[in-house]
Amino acid sequence: MLGTMQNTPVEDSTGRQFTYLRLSITDACNFRCVYCLPDGSHSCSSAALSSGETEHLVTALTELGIQKIRLTGGEPTLRHDLIDLATRIRKVSGVEKLGITTNGYRLRELARPLRDAGIEGLNVSVDTLSQKRFFVLTGHDLLNQVLEGIETAQSLRFPSIKINTVLMKNYNISELDAFFSLAKSTGFCVRFIELMRTQSNKEFFDQQYISSELVTRKLEEEGWKRGSYHYAGGPAHEYTHPIHPGTIGIITPYSKDFCLSCNRLRVTSRGELRLCLFGNRNYPLRQLLKTPDQKPELQAFIIRLLKHKPASHLLSEGSYGNTTNLAAFGG
Ligand code: SAM
Ligand code: SF4
Repeated sequence: MLGTMQNTPVEDSTGRQFTYLRLSITDACNFRCVYCLPDGSHSCSSAALSSGETEHLVTALTELGIQKIRLTGGEPTLRHDLIDLATRIRKVSGVEKLGITTNGYRLRELARPLRDAGIEGLNVSVDTLSQKRFFVLTGHDLLNQVLEGIETAQSLRFPSIKINTVLMKNYNISELDAFFSLAKSTGFCVRFIELMRTQSNKEFFDQQYISSELVTRKLEEEGWKRGSYHYAGGPAHEYTHPIHPGTIGIITPYSKDFCLSCNRLRVTSRGELRLCLFGNRNYPLRQLLKTPDQKPELQAFIIRLLKHKPASHLLSEGSYGNTTNLAAFGG
């Protein structure tokens, strides 16, 4: 049944409850990650929801049970009003946690204002710890700048800092030791994400996809223990070590049970609800975000749409949805 009481999480037809929103605030990006935007971004960030529209959306969604929000993109730090936007979202009643996922290139200067704005969860994407490879993978020679930004964030004691690393056969499998050392020396959570197939990366995917089994084997050999999984903690299965600080997470979108624990809604920077990462449709909400008095209509619309959320993606059957790249709505 679908919940309608204020702040009771809405459920879809399979009983999954939605407490987490991934909110893209721009689809533009300055990086050219090989698996995401190898030719760069041609998006226009001005098409994104305004801060007023965003506030209306977040207010409506928190009353439907959303408690945790992650700002993403494209590259969210390209938004000139990022700090103001984050501050406004954090103040909406019902928002219990606010996080951001970034490529980290502006983190040196933004870590403090982001922390002051109430951001607690900082996820930084770092696919390689080799300066040379970083340039090949992103089109920018900025690894040191990104790492300095992470150090700044660490000094500011963000409650959660995670490093996202997409596994690629010929690029970073040779760096597992280095990433494990990073987790141990910093106490961060390093999360390995299996490469996902999109409409635009078929050839790259065919060449570079590698399952995370190799990582799991290494974790077991080195004495890391798999923690008990709770969906509220996100899609990663996390491992801890009896001696070392830090955790290692694994995100396996192709696994059978990936969708069972789905607790997230996604909204694109242009204000479209996306029910599944690998779905075929976006549902425009923007026409219902103009004024606060549209809230009941907006909420009823979202509750209706959730009935159509598919029980599972169809990746194993070769259907990747209409996702051109994950920059379109933030992964
Ligand atoms: N630009 C920001 C960043 O890179 O962190 C936020 C947006 S990005 C789309 C969010 C996450 O999705 C990043 O960790 C990125 O590595 C991941 N991602 C993008 N395309 C992917 C793909 N095809 N497979 C797996 N992860 C992907
Ligand atoms: Fe940009 Fe993030 Fe995509 Fe890389 S993964 S191109 S940083 S949106």
